[in-house]
Amino acid sequence: MSSISFFRPANLSEACELLAKPNHLAVAGGTDLIVKLRNGLFPNAAALVDISALPFKSIRKEGDRLIIGSGCTMSSVIASPEVNEYFPVLVKAASTVGATQIRNAATLGGNVANASPAGDTIPALFALEAEVLIVGQTGKRKVAIDEFFTGPGRSVLKAGELIEGFALPLRKTSGAFLKLGERRAHAISKINLALNVFNDGQKRYRIAIGSAAPTVLRCKSAEELLEKAGEIDAATLEKAAEFACETAKPISDVRSSKSYRKQMAGVLLKRALKAVI
Ligand SMILES: Cc1cc2nc3c(=O)[nH]c(=O)nc-3n(C[C@H](O)[C@H](O)[C@H](O)COP(=O)(O)OP(=O)(O)OC[C@H]3O[C@@H](n4cnc5c(N)ncnc54)[C@H](O)[C@@H]3O)c2cc1C
Repeated sequence: MSSISFFRPANLSEACELLAKPNHLAVAGGTDLIVKLRNGLFPNAAALVDISALPFKSIRKEGDRLIIGSGCTMSSVIASPEVNEYFPVLVKAASTVGATQIRNAATLGGNVANASPAGDTIPALFALEAEVLIVGQTGKRKVAIDEFFTGPGRSVLKAGELIEGFALPLRKTSGAFLKLGERRAHAISKINLALNVFNDGQKRYRIAIGSAAPTVLRCKSAEELLEKAGEIDAATLEKAAEFACETAKPISDVRSSKSYRKQMAGVLLKRALKAVI
């Protein structure tokens, strides 16, 4: 690591210019990147570009949306009155990331840009229909969260681009986030699930499952079932759980088996629904 250059640009154009150069890596909280560097996953890394001085740390209302800066840490998301008022599922997901020290450094942008299928805030952002706000040398663009990921560790971000923040439609919601790991805390998800209910007029359900495929999956069959059902009885719960199991397309790996993950997708959905209805 000693031969890697380090930059701390004070403005966006300088940051994007640096990041367009080969093997220049953005670092926010460093809780994913530094671990990967130490494990030799970036043997050609030429420079670290610390983006923590960029104006990505605010949480603000803009018209009918809440904009959460990509540089907001999990702790600041958890402490935000607006996020608590409108998006409880995101507060719950951020609360499960690592332990306090990690949550004080880990950013929402880093969790998403890292593009792990097990990233805990990603299903919550899917369930909230977030848009990813991207900035680069040629300007700004936005991408729906469910179109952002192209595979494990991969996304539509191009060289020289950064996530500026996330736009979430300001609607009253209720939600639950559940995760299964090796331990109750400080563990990577074997499987996780976010349930969000938009409470504006007719209830609309959004369900997203993580660690169950190369990228987070929406469980649209269960969403439609719940919307049509109106009242959720035991039979509807069972059917929704069945749909969650069918939707999950996990693999077996060091953390869990394919069959356990599939079965637990249904169990988590039932638990989440019971917590919310
Ligand atoms: C002990 C430990 C426990 C953990 N527990 C969990 C857990 O329970 N759940 C979980 O989901 N994760 C967990 N993590 C992983 C990590 O903490 C999170 O993914 C965190 O949110 C990453 O954010 P960061 O700011 O540290 O990202 P960094 O490490 O700085 O960056 C991660 C990646 O994102 C890129 N990046 C960062 N910010 C931007 C941006 N604004 N635009 C474009 N690219 C960007 C970087 O270039 C890098 O590729 C854990 C990590 C550790 C070390």
